[in-house]
Amino acid sequence: MNLSRRNFFVSAVGLVTFGLLGSIANAEQRRRARPGAGGETGPLAAPLVDPKTDPTAQAMHYSENHATVKKDLQIAKQGVPFKDQHCKNCGFYKEVGQKDGKTVGTCTIFAGKLVESNSWCTSWNKKA
Ligand code: SF4
Repeated sequence: MNLSRRNFFVSAVGLVTFGLLGSIANAEQRRRARPGAGGETGPLAAPLVDPKTDPTAQAMHYSENHATVKKDLQIAKQGVPFKDQHCKNCGFYKEVGQKDGKTVGTCTIFAGKLVESNSWCTSWNKKA
């Protein structure tokens, strides 16, 4: 293979690779900007954790209503009484805004989903 032919192939491979990377980046950008069911974009497009169907939520006794949490789980942690333990003051929570009339945020435990700020689960950990 002479030099100009090799240069042509190297350039062609480079262009194809560059094009593929660009397509992947654009697809990711579109995926992140895709609106949720309520038309939200960005982090708010993620679905809310559904304690009725989400196996992790069920394993962690996730609840949007403290009154429904089993009595034996309603214990003080790190000096905080159970009644004051909510996602909003949990170290795993980061608020992102309003969705379906609720203040919501991300939670490290539920990647790709949103939790309601007044919810609770057994992984509650006092925010530093
Ligand atoms: S880990 Fe914290 S933020 Fe996540 S669901 Fe449980 S209480 Fe809420």
